[in-house]
Amino acid sequence: MHYLDNAATTPVLPVAAEAAVRTMCEGYGNPSSLHRKGLDAARLLEESRKTVASALGVLPEETYFTSCGTESTNISLRGAARLHRHKKGHIITTAIEHAATLQTVRELEQDGFRVTLLAPDAGGHITPEALADALTEDTVLLSCQLANNELGTVQPVAELGALLKAKAPEALFHIDAVQGLARVPLAPKKWKCDLMSVSGHKIGAPKGVGALYIRKGLRLPPMATGGGQERGISPGTEPLPNIAAFAEACRQRMAAFDENYAHVQALAAYLREQAEQKLPYAVFNVESDIPHVQSIAVDGCKSEVMLRILSDEGVYVSAGSACSKGKQSGVLAAIGLPRTRSDCTLRVSFSPENSREDVDAFIAAVQKGAKMLRR
Ligand code: PLP
Repeated sequence: MHYLDNAATTPVLPVAAEAAVRTMCEGYGNPSSLHRKGLDAARLLEESRKTVASALGVLPEETYFTSCGTESTNISLRGAARLHRHKKGHIITTAIEHAATLQTVRELEQDGFRVTLLAPDAGGHITPEALADALTEDTVLLSCQLANNELGTVQPVAELGALLKAKAPEALFHIDAVQGLARVPLAPKKWKCDLMSVSGHKIGAPKGVGALYIRKGLRLPPMATGGGQERGISPGTEPLPNIAAFAEACRQRMAAFDENYAHVQALAAYLREQAEQKLPYAVFNVESDIPHVQSIAVDGCKSEVMLRILSDEGVYVSAGSACSKGKQSGVLAAIGLPRTRSDCTLRVSFSPENSREDVDAFIAAVQKGAKMLRR
């Protein structure tokens, strides 16, 4: 089995699974209970918060647990919009965001906000010039990804944040760092970022846990009501097994950050070298900035069919992104790829657990598929 779809989700790291099981079976108290089990659970919750905050480069009191990246982004965007619900205003995001952002701003547009989608350049980057042209004095929110889930390109968030705050100092800056956590050193303070979304299942934690950074001093109106957990930002009894697992995954990934990065970088270089030698009909769509995500078009081979052939060979990748499910990828269209190319695109995404054997299996399976499909 060769799992090369780590931008979709990752296997749970053993340390994270152990932490989850330990918490389920022994540390199962409710952090709000006042007896010993509850106090132990509350302590574990706060220790986990410290660990995740440190991976995010922020303070524990600025770190809120949520159920996933999508929830973090919804809380950020809808909360920011609620702060401006009377005068509305202008929201800027990009054409290559995840659906969590795009669908949310579409709704906010229907509520009366003006929305601008910045187009990327052909290399998959949002330029500071594009933002400068779009900014207006009534801009209330900029939401931009850190790393793109289909291309692996990293946006110049420090420059974008500086431009935003110079022109519209009251505007909030949200960063979707779901694909950036443990892959790019996170520095939201340096980037003048107010809100940042991350997700556990992209870094070896179970599904069902995410986190949201909210800059100290920013009071975001909560989107849900309940028992006031997570200071009202994500109310409901905390999923402590997932949270403890997320903290363990952060601890392990951050401790081995440089080593893991170098390993994935070497794998990506090997993939490119092997593809150049053995797949003359394939082309990489862009130069990715993080090696973890590679977008490769195999000429003449529809990705949906190729995916099935690869799957039969035990090689698992995505067509574009896992969320696009057969629809043309908006990201590949936004960078100007013709449909003939985007329809033949595969996304290979690595984790530090992958090896050269996984790349060899991918190349061999694509060769086999191309032989069948390119007649
Ligand atoms: N943002 C990006 C860039 C993603 O890649 C994803 C997941 O694919 C999300 C947001 C949504 O995260 P989650 O699956 O935790 O809701």
